[in-house]
Amino acid sequence: MSSPPLERRFGPYGGRYVPETLIPALDELEREWLAARADPDFTDELARLLRDYVGRPTPLYRAARLSEATGAEVWLKREDLTHTGSHKINNALGQALLARRMGKPRVIAETGAGQHGVASATACALLDLDCVVYMGTEDMRRQRPNVERMRLLGAEVVGVEAGARTLKEAVSAAIRDWVGNVATTHYVIGSAVGPAPYPALVRDLQRTIGDEARAQVLEATGRLPDRVIACVGGGSNAIGTFVGFVDDPAVKLIGVEAAGAGLETRRHSAPLTTGARGVLHGALSAVLHDEEGQILEAHSVSAGLDYPGSGPEHAHLRDTGRVSYVAVSDAEALAAFRRLAQLEGILPALEPAHALAWLFANPGGAAGASLDLVTLSGRGDKDLAEVMALESGL
Ligand SMILES: *Cc1c(COP(=O)(O)O)cnc(C)c1O
Repeated sequence: MSSPPLERRFGPYGGRYVPETLIPALDELEREWLAARADPDFTDELARLLRDYVGRPTPLYRAARLSEATGAEVWLKREDLTHTGSHKINNALGQALLARRMGKPRVIAETGAGQHGVASATACALLDLDCVVYMGTEDMRRQRPNVERMRLLGAEVVGVEAGARTLKEAVSAAIRDWVGNVATTHYVIGSAVGPAPYPALVRDLQRTIGDEARAQVLEATGRLPDRVIACVGGGSNAIGTFVGFVDDPAVKLIGVEAAGAGLETRRHSAPLTTGARGVLHGALSAVLHDEEGQILEAHSVSAGLDYPGSGPEHAHLRDTGRVSYVAVSDAEALAAFRRLAQLEGILPALEPAHALAWLFANPGGAAGASLDLVTLSGRGDKDLAEVMALESGL
């Protein structure tokens, strides 16, 4: 596998907007990742665990009834079939292995909906690492089953009371912990965000999605897709998918953000589609903020997309025009969730339901595309209670 360089900047974006005390740890992480990804002992063990524990390669599935509905062949990259049910395990497992290699016995993580927290707690149980997960107390209330899962897996879940008591505050608390405990602790960031080298490190660990999908679609159809579509929260499943196709200029890449209640309402999570430039959690990127630079609260029906920032590599890919970023509302995502269930017998997570909703609104047949590839980043079981509550309230 040829690896891209470990960028600190993507065009003007990225960087390290962090307290000085963290710079040596970021340097160490960068050094260790460059060494680890070139070390066959490390890459062989990661490959073995991805195969036997996570269940990779995940299938690339030709969705026949979905294809009929959109007038073009649609192939789904089935990250929903991984252990723990989403792509987050690819990153959490890789970083936990790296923590062990660095001799750091303690891992911290942040979580919003709990998916990254569960993936981190899982990887730490497997590798016998101490795990502390920061979570806003409002999210703990909304995601009680994932709190119980993390505790069963042996993790300590620390509630964060600040601000809106959701993901943004949990990340800030995790960064504060890291500043104080950096000698013994590795911070497993859950998306392609944060100070360098995290966006590049997380992309490297998630590119297994795009590398597999590219080989699988060539093997199955003898050609590349016309369009590749993925949802974007912080942007890890999307960057991991896109990196497999970014050097194929004929392949259109589409990142789908959450328009929430509507882009005009400010109750959305679409910084790439709408946002200004700003600094959030250590990186310059597309960020939702007010006139004074204060970070705005994001909104999406899908907790995994409910974040006011985005990965710096996406901001750059937007500016260069290589990737198109679009946004889909809560209502459209909920309709797509139901539609995929009925067409294919698959309950998608609400996050990739946004990518599917865009596909339904822009079907390949009408758009002149004959082969579409969509990353199904996770399964929808976690969202059932939310969907049922919303629909009974309608
Ligand atoms: C967390 C999550 C996302 C959003 O995160 P990215 O880093 O943008 O991929 C998307 N899908 C699922 C299933 C998730 O759990």
